[in-house]
Amino acid sequence: MRRISVFGATGSIGQNTLDLVRRDREAYRVVALTGAGNIERLARDAIEFDAEVAVTADPERLADLRDALAGSGVEAAAGESALIEAAQRPADWVMSAIVGAAGLAPGLHALEQGASLALANKESMVCAGPLMMETARATSAKILPVDSEHSAVFQALIGEDLAAVERVIITASGGAFRDWPLEQLAQATPEQAATHPNWAMGQRITIDSASMFNKALELIETKEFFGIEPGMIEVVVHPESMIHALVGFRDGALMAHVGPADMRHAIGFALHHPARQALPVERLDLVKLGQFTFREASETRWPALRLAREVMQAGGLTGAVFNAAKERALDAFIDRRIGFNDMARVVEETLTCVSAQDSLIHAGFTLDNVRSADHLARITADEIMGMQAAS
Ligand code: NAD
Ligand code: MG
Repeated sequence: MRRISVFGATGSIGQNTLDLVRRDREAYRVVALTGAGNIERLARDAIEFDAEVAVTADPERLADLRDALAGSGVEAAAGESALIEAAQRPADWVMSAIVGAAGLAPGLHALEQGASLALANKESMVCAGPLMMETARATSAKILPVDSEHSAVFQALIGEDLAAVERVIITASGGAFRDWPLEQLAQATPEQAATHPNWAMGQRITIDSASMFNKALELIETKEFFGIEPGMIEVVVHPESMIHALVGFRDGALMAHVGPADMRHAIGFALHHPARQALPVERLDLVKLGQFTFREASETRWPALRLAREVMQAGGLTGAVFNAAKERALDAFIDRRIGFNDMARVVEETLTCVSAQDSLIHAGFTLDNVRSADHLARITADEIMGMQAAS
């Protein structure tokens, strides 16, 4: 039996992961499941999967979690230190599917104890790519990409020589507003931004798809994960979301990964790696689909893409600043304190302010340094938004 843990078990990726585990229940021993506010779901799943421990990130919900787990034999725990303690419990495979920078520390601790880390939490790579890779190297732990584009690139590279790669193309659906006139974007509401044309995902990543901040994070994730030069990574809008990524080789060949918009493919690939097992995803009928289309990913429409290029150029802890500023701007957009277009502006201004602190940006990749950069970026983004609200 493989020992597995799922961080962010109550979310969209977490639930898809448990769906696969449920189909082959006897093959796994579930160590830890974690969530935040959705105690009912966390407790229900922890009992169903007979987990050793269930952890909520919210310390104020510990009593509720204890009540919900009473008599089940599942341990209840809460808070950041409990998440880390859960990540340190020996496991063979750990799903990292917390949303945001909060996913970094548990993932690092899982790598430190040598577990294979299925990485949905792209923020870990954006904030601390070199630290993640170095930690994995030190313990010979594997990091398996779960983001669909990165799983696609990973699969296209199997058996290939990285030196023969000329370009990597990741696709973007274009999100909720890809066909909106530019002038209308300023009025876009959180509800409109949170409807995705093709994928069913968590609220935050869905809004990030509409703003292209999701693709911006994925550009940086591609650079960090595969060690590919930023100039070799392209983004193309592909409204059908069937081709997830393409890898171009020096002989002119382009290897495309094609599949339905169902995260259980990428999750299942990471779960069974290096084997390929049957997965419950739709088989595509190409004739019925008829055609695949592509459009330019305009940096005028989606300034987040330009910002990602600047972040990759700047290096150091700029990625942590970029992600933290984006998280705060997204919070403010969801709370209707700023408009849709303001998100990119707030992130750009935060980058300008915080990047001026050379000693902070180039302090080196330790968890403490990443946290300092993240913290300063959040304060700075809040100040920028506060000033704008006041003026
Ligand atoms: P979600 O919002 O559906 O779920 C997030 C999970 O994280 C929940 O279990 C929630 O309880 C937990 N969580 C939230 N805040 C937390 C905190 N501060 N501390 C600890 N736990 C916390 O999100 P999702 O769509 O499943 O995405 C999870 C991650 O996977 C994100 O990094 C996202 O970018 C990435 N991802 C998601 C998809 C997708 O299809 N949903 C695809 C690719 C990558
Ligand atoms: Mg993706």
